[in-house]
Amino acid sequence: MRHRIAVVGGGPAGLTFARVLQRHGHPVAVLERDPAPDARPPGGTLDLQEGLGQLALDKAGLLAEFQALSRPEGQAMRILDTDGTVLRDWHPRPDERANPEIDRGQLRDLLLGPLDDVRWGRSVTRVVPGTRDGVLVHFADGRQEAFDLVIGADGAWSRVRPAVSPVTPHYTGVTSVETSLDEVDTRHPALARLIGDGSVAVYGVNRSLVAQRNSGGHVKVYAKFRAPLGWHAKLDLDLNRNLDLADVEAVRSGLLALFDGWAAPVLDLLRHGAAFVHRPFYSLPVSHTWTHVPGVTLLGDAAHLMPPLGAGANLAMLDGAELAESIATESIASGSGDPDEAVRAFEERMWARAGRWAQITTAGLERLVSPDPAEAIAQFDHVQLS
Ligand SMILES: Cc1cc2nc3c(=O)[nH]c(=O)nc-3n(C[C@H](O)[C@H](O)[C@H](O)COP(=O)(O)OP(=O)(O)OC[C@H]3O[C@@H](n4cnc5c(N)ncnc54)[C@H](O)[C@@H]3O)c2cc1C
Repeated sequence: MRHRIAVVGGGPAGLTFARVLQRHGHPVAVLERDPAPDARPPGGTLDLQEGLGQLALDKAGLLAEFQALSRPEGQAMRILDTDGTVLRDWHPRPDERANPEIDRGQLRDLLLGPLDDVRWGRSVTRVVPGTRDGVLVHFADGRQEAFDLVIGADGAWSRVRPAVSPVTPHYTGVTSVETSLDEVDTRHPALARLIGDGSVAVYGVNRSLVAQRNSGGHVKVYAKFRAPLGWHAKLDLDLNRNLDLADVEAVRSGLLALFDGWAAPVLDLLRHGAAFVHRPFYSLPVSHTWTHVPGVTLLGDAAHLMPPLGAGANLAMLDGAELAESIATESIASGSGDPDEAVRAFEERMWARAGRWAQITTAGLERLVSPDPAEAIAQFDHVQLS
């Protein structure tokens, strides 16, 4: 008997789950809120680690295609002091494949590939388990559809999560304002040299600036700082009014004031930024678990949102690949007929792994945006040596 399986969310977790399940011959519906794959900018580059994201791609049969697309040279990392002095300048070996970078849009297209049943523009509002028809999925347009198993891979503000857990994300105390530069090699050659093939990071007191090269000469710049959630109501003190986050020039001058005194080439990253996106960092509790609910589970950020220190997409993808493999091989293929046993066992494994990474990334964020910038350098050295 075929089970009706749906995954809510077409991000790294949901698409990897669907690709691996389909590879094992089982149909799955991907319910995605965005009206089309390119409906919004896909975001910056991701580094996919050997034992995590790359392992998931291997399970999806996509490792060779990933290796052809990814940028091993993007692992390069330079750290500057706020006066522009180079403190660290790390380059990967030519054969280094531990954490190559890939653009999110490229990863999405790779995972989408030949998926049979991706339903765009399907915004889920809530999920009700235990009805006579199975798990009932409610959509924003008023429609409903029943499934036997619903996987919530719908990110930080998951609409599936309330079906299993009352917990919601909390603010970490660190905010990021993101901007970007295009055609950096031709339009900003000095900045292109500063950034190199990978990233450049500058750490100050309770703030940092990080610029990261994506493919095609595109660069994402992240200004991160410790601040209360309503920081923009206070930043623009000189003008004695609130900072309007939609006003590009007001945000630029607010950030230049926040990073005042830093080396001119570093501040040029903000001076030339095109637009600014405000992104406060939220996370779920380090050990977020729940009492198992038959027919519903969570993956990726929906289950274990944590500070963005290079683990979230990796874990999301491995969650998706492992759950799909468990469902396909342990229950359906063996003829037991009940995917729920596989889900229950998977949840225990996911919680243990995510808990370890949540501890690492929470402690890492404390050090990277810290009152003592030496902590950030120590964190970099620790990661490079481990
Ligand atoms: C600045 C930054 C840099 C990062 N860098 C890295 C990195 O280098 N490496 C790394 O491993 N991680 C990184 N991360 C973390 C990573 O982006 C996330 O952990 C990852 O995207 C989680 O994947 P996901 O599929 O669980 O959720 P998401 O990527 O959030 O995908 C969720 C999907 O669900 C859809 N959706 C949401 N709500 C609904 C709904 N109600 N109905 C239907 N669909 C819905 C969304 O449109 C989206 O497509 C970074 C994060 C940030 C903010």
